[in-house]
Amino acid sequence: MPYNLIDGKAIANQIKTEIAGEVAEIIAKGGKRPHLAVIIVGHDGGSEAYVAHKAKSCEQVGFRSTTIAFEDTVGESELLKEIDSLNNNADVDGFIVQLPLPKHISEQKIIEAIDYRKDVDGFHPINVGKMSIGLPSYVSATPAGILELLKRYDIATAGKNCVVIGRSNIVGKPVAMLLMQKAYPGDATVTICHSRTKNLKEICREADIIIAALGRPEFLTADMVKEGAVVIDVGTTRVPSEQTKSGFRLCGDVKFDEVAPKCSYITPVPGGVGPMTIVSLLRNTLLAAKKEIYPT
Ligand code: NAP
Repeated sequence: MPYNLIDGKAIANQIKTEIAGEVAEIIAKGGKRPHLAVIIVGHDGGSEAYVAHKAKSCEQVGFRSTTIAFEDTVGESELLKEIDSLNNNADVDGFIVQLPLPKHISEQKIIEAIDYRKDVDGFHPINVGKMSIGLPSYVSATPAGILELLKRYDIATAGKNCVVIGRSNIVGKPVAMLLMQKAYPGDATVTICHSRTKNLKEICREADIIIAALGRPEFLTADMVKEGAVVIDVGTTRVPSEQTKSGFRLCGDVKFDEVAPKCSYITPVPGGVGPMTIVSLLRNTLLAAKKEIYPT
């Protein structure tokens, strides 16, 4: 079957151009430049690359960006002090704390210390709760990016059997919640699978849409996918590679070569969901700068 490749990179560039246009308008009217701050702790290669990419993307759309870096020996109280300072910094519209954090710091405590009105990652319980009941909120970036891809490719979701593999708070749970909301994209019949799920293969074979978000390279194979399915690959695991300068490459959760020919639509890795995650963060920051979700 000839499949359609969902080009997340192209859609992300299109959205960046749209955001840059809005920023130019704000500045032309004498408004303040949107400002995103990012806190990073330690020197995890993946996290440092993401943060550098976020800063570059901010620059591309005309945002101001600030990166605040701490060594991984930083104490929780010092981090909380920085969060308090960003909460009270009127120039910063939104900020995020790059996860994961070192073991001695409670991620939940850090997330809950962020003023929910500046929580452009959408991880604060207030934003998660509002999203769950369909109220305006900052929706976490990866799920928002996945929905945007479905929308821009006009992929039908109403009444479709959608299987989400993975139940994390940042991807699996929110994307499942969004796909079941009374809206488009949404109105799907959603099944969430995880490491304790039985008959995962059979469940996947019934799916019209599969969102693979488990972080197991090439987990989803052709025998788990029905003809004509839509497959969204969220996985990004670094695996060793002799073909790249860095010595590794990003590998998705889908065995692309054998699954793609069965699909109507499929995302590649890289170039699928990844670029959409960053633009969703930019979008949330623009919403924060415009005070669209929380006017005060
Ligand atoms: P996570 O917190 O590790 O959660 C993984 C989930 O997958 C868990 O719910 C786990 O089940 C489930 N799982 C693991 N092995 C399984 C198996 N063999 N069968 C069924 N379910 C299984 O991961 P995450 O943060 O959601 O991220 C998932 C993947 O997406 C990772 O590769 C990550 O790098 C990637 N990611 C990419 C982006 C992007 O922008 N492209 C953004 C975020 C994450 P249990 O709950 O039972 O343990």
